[in-house]
Amino acid sequence: MNDHEPLLELRGIDKSFGNIHALSGIDLLVRAGEVTCVLGDNGAGKSTLIKILAGLYPPSSGEYLVDGEPVALSSPREALDRGIATVYQDLALVRLMPVWRNFFLGSELRRGRGPLSMLDTARMRTIADTELRRMGIDLPDIDAPVGNLSGGQRQVVAIARAVYFGARVLILDEPTAALGVKQSGVVLRYVDAARDAGLGVVFITHNPHHAHMVGDRFVILKLGRVELDRPRERLSPDQLAHHMAGGSELDTLQRELDRGAVPSAQEPKGA
Ligand code: ADP
Ligand code: MG
Repeated sequence: MNDHEPLLELRGIDKSFGNIHALSGIDLLVRAGEVTCVLGDNGAGKSTLIKILAGLYPPSSGEYLVDGEPVALSSPREALDRGIATVYQDLALVRLMPVWRNFFLGSELRRGRGPLSMLDTARMRTIADTELRRMGIDLPDIDAPVGNLSGGQRQVVAIARAVYFGARVLILDEPTAALGVKQSGVVLRYVDAARDAGLGVVFITHNPHHAHMVGDRFVILKLGRVELDRPRERLSPDQLAHHMAGGSELDTLQRELDRGAVPSAQEPKGA
C-alpha cells in the first residue's frame, strides 16, 4: 500500500494570522488507498490545515504538492478540479430539497441547450439512486428532503456526491463529531469504502476510537505542530487515546494526583 505515490504532500507548511502561528512546519503525506487521520485538541490547527488542503487559504510558507508537483491553489474550485474534495461539518446541503437534487447541487444535469434547457430530473434521480445504492447506502426515498435524513446519512450523501464527481482525495472535517454511536458507524463504514475504492482520505477527528477504527496513519497536531506521525502498525488504540488525552502531561498529572500533591476542591485553604 505504501508504495503508492503520494496524492498530496505538505512540506514545512506554516500559516500565520497576524502574529498567531496557527501552523508551523507541517509535513503531511496523503496516499491513495489510505486513510490519514488528523487528530488534535481544540485550537490545534486542524481546521486551518483543512482549509489549506482545500485551497481556501494559501500557506504563509512551505510547499504544497499535488501528484508530486508544487501547486499554489487559489480557490476550492481549483482544488476540486484536481480531485481534492472537502466535506465540511456544516454540510453544503439544502435541507428542504430532495436527496437527488442535493446530490447534483451546483452540477445539475440539463436537457436541451441555451435558455430553453430544462433540468433533467429523471436522469438525476436515476443516477443519484444508482450511485447511492452502488456505494451501499440504502435510503428509503431519494425524493425525501435531505433534512429528513439522519446526520450520518447526510454526511454519507455528501461523501457519495464527492466520489461521484471524481474526487481522488476526500477531506472529512470531523464527520462524526455531532453523531451518536450508530450514526458514526454509518459514516465510518463509508470512510472504509472510500479507502477501498482507492481514494486518499483525510479524516479529521478528535475521537481516537473512531480514528483507530479506520485509520492507516495517524497525525496528531498540538498547538500548530505535528506532535506525532505514525503508521497503524506502530500505534495501539491505547497509545493513541493516551496521546490524545494529553500524553506525558497526563502522566505528570496522574503522578501528582497519586501523591496527593494536588489539593481537592473541598480542602480548606491553608490546611
Ligand atoms: P482546530 O480546528 O484544531 O480547533 P484551528 O485551525 O481552528 O484549530 O485554530 C488554530 C489556531 O489558529 C487557533 O489559535 C485559532 O484561534 C487560530 N485561528 C484560526 N483561524 C484564524 C483566523 N482566521 N484568524 C486568526 N486566528 C485564527
Ligand atoms: Mg476546527
